[in-house]
Amino acid sequence: MSATASAAPARDRIDAVYAEVVRRSPAEQEFHQAAREVLDSLAPVLAARPELAEAALVERVCEPERQVLFRVPWQDDAGRTHVNRGFRVEFNSALGPYKGGLRFHPSVSLSVVKFLGFEQIFKNALTGLGIGGGKGGSDFDPHGRSDAEVMRFCQSFMTELYRHIGESTDVPAGDIGVGGREIGYLFGQYRRITNRWEAGVLTGKGLSWGGSAGRTEATGYGNVLFAAEMLRVRGEDLPGQQVVVSGSGNVALYTVEKLHELGARALTVSDSGGYVVDDKGIDLDLLKQIKEVERGRVKDYAERRGTSATYVAGGNVWEVPADVALPSATQNELDIADALALVRGGVKAVSEGANMPVTPSAVKVFQDAGVAFGPGKAANAGGVAVSALEMRQNSGRDSWPRERVESELAAVMRDIHEVCRNTAERYGAPGDYVMGANIAGFERVAEAMLAQGVV
Ligand code: NDP
Repeated sequence: MSATASAAPARDRIDAVYAEVVRRSPAEQEFHQAAREVLDSLAPVLAARPELAEAALVERVCEPERQVLFRVPWQDDAGRTHVNRGFRVEFNSALGPYKGGLRFHPSVSLSVVKFLGFEQIFKNALTGLGIGGGKGGSDFDPHGRSDAEVMRFCQSFMTELYRHIGESTDVPAGDIGVGGREIGYLFGQYRRITNRWEAGVLTGKGLSWGGSAGRTEATGYGNVLFAAEMLRVRGEDLPGQQVVVSGSGNVALYTVEKLHELGARALTVSDSGGYVVDDKGIDLDLLKQIKEVERGRVKDYAERRGTSATYVAGGNVWEVPADVALPSATQNELDIADALALVRGGVKAVSEGANMPVTPSAVKVFQDAGVAFGPGKAANAGGVAVSALEMRQNSGRDSWPRERVESELAAVMRDIHEVCRNTAERYGAPGDYVMGANIAGFERVAEAMLAQGVV
């Protein structure tokens, strides 16, 4: 194959596809950013594989198969009525049922859901587990809401969503603001409305009612394993490395857990109020108590931890120098100035636990400085991979031991790392995991779409 054979016309075509994305979906900045990043990798593929260009596969993959927007009315504990907006974008089902989480956060918009759903197509393809791409959520803010309010909201949300999902159609899971509590309320309402025990309709369930061992931990664990692989091929080891982690939710917590299990030291966690730096390494038992039991803030951690921990209100976690950085909070949380600070501090590897946390200009800083950079669609695919394993267990009415799930997760992460690395090399960009992930994910989806005709 000649990867550069007719790269110029292929690049023109890519630019035209991007222009059409922007024209059709104006003001959807996050979606534009995610589309641009993938499209920028694809010119060499179109140049080398004209059959994919002729079938307009890039054009088709940028357009969701279906988008659902709906009203979610609910009442708070004082009896006041609120109205939120619900979303489900079913982006691509060439490889399997739509699969991707639900996000409850005030910043959720159609643009955010489309960016996440678009990324999910390629991420899910990289897992090799037969799942399509989708995403959903609401601009509902669960912070400060009682359990009863969250339950009423989830019930109202599912009262519309249920007609669009199913174990062979579309299988949502958690994301920001949607954890085990919310999945429980959503599953309960789905079961009530449909009168079916259809465990495979949602993932991230509790262990006694169809959940998988290791699902809660999977995204954070998987990202640490991916970072360890990136270091390994550079002749470095994870044990002993100092690591800066952002966020303090599901992904961040289990990132810290795996880092410590493997002998590295997590120095920080953060939330939207500020960050904590703990010279002795984050005390995970204390952090879990505050975040998972008390639903508190990282400020509380610093107050209770003692002298090794400092809380920096409104601070920027990337000012802490470290060997490895694992952004695990939200999109665009690490920009160019942060990347320059990390590079000055001697960072060797950056791996995205969150989706698109590193801005394109910051990615370029890392790549130009020779820092290993793992994009989220590869590095945080462990969560959706174990969700796919949960679906397998559900379809066989089975429950696997934790060791089996963890060893399958480790194998999937190693495989994704290898596929990204080999694909980047094949297309003349050795060490570029962004190119590798985008191309390998796209090729898998595009080949399936090509085989299935114009649908
Ligand atoms: P959680 O809701 O459990 O935690 C999110 C964390 O990020 C919280 O500490 C939150 O702080 C912080 N955060 C969220 N939004 C902002 C913001 N706008 N500014 C600053 N901090 C913010 O979510 P998850 O841990 O599940 O998800 C984190 C990231 O990982 C997301 O990008 C998600 O898409 C991605 N991801 C998650 C997967 C999963 O399995 N859960 C799978 C793959 C990717 P605060 O409480 O102050 O808002």
